[in-house]
Amino acid sequence: MYQLNETHDPELKSWVVSANDGLTDFPIQNLPFAVFRPTASDEPFRVGVAIGDQVLDMAALAASGLFSDSVQDAVGACAKPQLNELMAMGAAAWSGLRAELSKALRQGSELEEPLSRMLIAQVAVEYSLPCRIGDYTDFYTSIHHATAVGSLFRPDNPLLPNYKWVPIGYHGRASSIAVSGQKFHRPYGQVKAPDAAEPVMSPCQRLDYELEMAIYIGCGNTLGERIDIDAVDQHVFGLSLLNDWSARDIQAWEYQPLGPFLAKNFASTVSPWIVTLEALAPYRKAWDRQSEDPQPLPYLDSANTRKYGAFDIELSVYLETERMRKQATKAEKLSQSNFEHSYWTVGQMVAHHSVNGCNLCPGDLLGSGTQSGPEHEEAGSLLELSRGGKEAIQLSNGEQRKFLEDGDVVMMSGCCQRQGAARIGFGEVSAQVLPARSETK
Ligand code: MN
Repeated sequence: MYQLNETHDPELKSWVVSANDGLTDFPIQNLPFAVFRPTASDEPFRVGVAIGDQVLDMAALAASGLFSDSVQDAVGACAKPQLNELMAMGAAAWSGLRAELSKALRQGSELEEPLSRMLIAQVAVEYSLPCRIGDYTDFYTSIHHATAVGSLFRPDNPLLPNYKWVPIGYHGRASSIAVSGQKFHRPYGQVKAPDAAEPVMSPCQRLDYELEMAIYIGCGNTLGERIDIDAVDQHVFGLSLLNDWSARDIQAWEYQPLGPFLAKNFASTVSPWIVTLEALAPYRKAWDRQSEDPQPLPYLDSANTRKYGAFDIELSVYLETERMRKQATKAEKLSQSNFEHSYWTVGQMVAHHSVNGCNLCPGDLLGSGTQSGPEHEEAGSLLELSRGGKEAIQLSNGEQRKFLEDGDVVMMSGCCQRQGAARIGFGEVSAQVLPARSETK
């Protein structure tokens, strides 16, 4: 794992004043990456680094030649419209670039004057997907989510016997992943009511969100070779937020025997900013497996995993309905959870994914699975909060929800805070449900 170093020093301040207010997601200790351009411009997308309420234009920095020779390749990769090239360079390159960015953006830096001309306000930019996502794999690592959902789908057999041995996952679809701001039409599909003799074709009636972490692969592995659990930190570029939308009624009818298909591949939304694993180093936590549970097989276990395999990341979900927008009331918080509750770690997911020799590639995305906490109120989906659609969730403006309605905007945020470290955050991922298209059959 990354050692704590001067880039994590909570006392560091930036000459970008908005980075120092203690509230921003993007103090100088964070330095996450996104791909952006000025809003509604025809300028090329390029890599940016967040600092306070600004974006540092990394293409402008690359053209300036201001950074030292040792990081010029990494800076040069940031002039590209995707992060894949930087991701492929590996942990030493990412870390070297982070160290120079930290020095250049801190108070007293002699680069303040030229870099101040490379800043663009975040409110004046638009984002694209941060990288070309070749493959998307979705895990299922919250045992609280797996148990709650399992008990709705299979009351007699909620948690299948493999759950505590295998990090369960399935191959998702990359083409329908979009960056925050996505709007999508309510999907159609085959649905079958429990008491109906036959299925019908219908717009989804049980549309849901899933609160997940996105894990971006940096440098991958050669086909046929595996990634050792203790080497995973050198292969993972960073994490962001992921809303992995789900059509629960379509899912219930289609999912056996091969798992989710059209219920899960119509839209997935990621937050624009990727927080690097090095930035997350202060918020790592010990990981443990209760003694009454099966202990992980050796390829899924290590002393380092036990010491700091988990991440302490607070996650929140908010809902903004059409009526809230009309009445200008604030979005309402639906739940809060934490990535530390995950039954399987990032290291275990990556080690397991590659144990058969499957090659992971720069820019590949792993979803963590819905991150529900141990308490009912900490559920990461409406399916759980409404107990399978049996109990309406009461909103403070008088509205109710069991599942999402047209016009609903779901917003998720995440942050890390710990004594002796700066507070850093992930920004947000937000997306909107549009009405189903009118179809004739
Ligand atoms: Mn999912």
